[in-house]
Amino acid sequence: MNNQRNFCSLEDVSDLADGLALIRHSLHRYPELSNQEQETAELVADKLREWGYQVSRGIGGYGVVGTLKHGNGARRVGIRADMDALPIQELTGLPYSSQRDGCMHACGHDGHTAVLLGAAWQLARTRRFSGTVNLIFQPAEETGFNSGAERMIADGLFERFPCDAIFGLHNHPGYPSGTFMFRPGPFMAACDTVTLTIYGKGGHAARPHLAVDPIVVASSLVMALQTLISRNTDPTEAVVLTVGAFHAGHAANVIPESARLELSVRSFAPDVRRMLETRIRALATRHAESFDARVEIDYVPGYPVLVNDADETEFARQVAEELVGAEHVVAPFPAIAGSEDFAYFLQQRPGCFVRMGNGDSAMLHNAAYDFNDANLAIGAAYWTRLVERYLAR
Ligand SMILES: [Zn+2]
Ligand SMILES: [Zn+2]
Repeated sequence: MNNQRNFCSLEDVSDLADGLALIRHSLHRYPELSNQEQETAELVADKLREWGYQVSRGIGGYGVVGTLKHGNGARRVGIRADMDALPIQELTGLPYSSQRDGCMHACGHDGHTAVLLGAAWQLARTRRFSGTVNLIFQPAEETGFNSGAERMIADGLFERFPCDAIFGLHNHPGYPSGTFMFRPGPFMAACDTVTLTIYGKGGHAARPHLAVDPIVVASSLVMALQTLISRNTDPTEAVVLTVGAFHAGHAANVIPESARLELSVRSFAPDVRRMLETRIRALATRHAESFDARVEIDYVPGYPVLVNDADETEFARQVAEELVGAEHVVAPFPAIAGSEDFAYFLQQRPGCFVRMGNGDSAMLHNAAYDFNDANLAIGAAYWTRLVERYLAR
């Protein structure tokens, strides 16, 4: 008995490559922003129905789930792809460039969707598994909060479509196509957004002693915030605190009433995340007080830390190694300071989020970026084999 031979290989899907490229290019031509993925969901649902899936739509917005049962296996596995595009004007010059002004698939979600459709196609035509496959096409990954993953879960995703484990992938520019990168445990950062509005007392630039200058308070606070990393964070922990926006004033001879700082705060451990919030609130409040100013704090929690389950990550790594060979698998891959709402799925079910090399393309969220079509068949074979192996476990 050699089960190995029955699991999906790269050759098994090679005839799908052209069809998947056509699907990907049509998604690329007509990108849709977060929470507007109506046509994308339509295309996905049509394909899934055509291949014999039971299709459910409108889950947490434009979410689509395609379910395929085969045999009498009791195990159930979920695979997720994200579908939304970004508010970026495309500059690739590709023949299948975005036809929509100021909207572009610059994060490769067109590719992730096409890859999962490829697996749907392969699984449906071969049916070399016994159990239940739930293919989850998620809207609104790029929103930063109240995202598609949260909304699909709140809409009963795992009650309606039970999954014993869940898997997802993201392309990764700068690594060769066909390379898979894994990391068990915390893999991608929690990301919170904080707005600090400092209220002073406006006045004449020539009479600063009669005013409370919010620009000076805010400037001092920007520097003081840096000590949260150097003095309050365990040196072995990774933390990012970026003041990405500083808005204040209109004229050289006027001291304004207020100044506004916008911060991106990233961390990899829940206790570090809590510590940062506590310290940012305390520091901002007392810092403002010490200047006779006051501060209003708007702390918006974004995606949590993405934590890969150790066992499922080892399993997913083995699947990749069988498919592309150990020389094309990197594990453990370094943690990434970006954030990803797949973290919410991993809070609900064990699973693994993998990064897949996208070749030497432009970076994600860049106007010159494009998903690497060579990954379409490779990714489809990977998901197919992972499903077959998971359900056979
Ligand atoms: Zn993105
Ligand atoms: Zn993305």
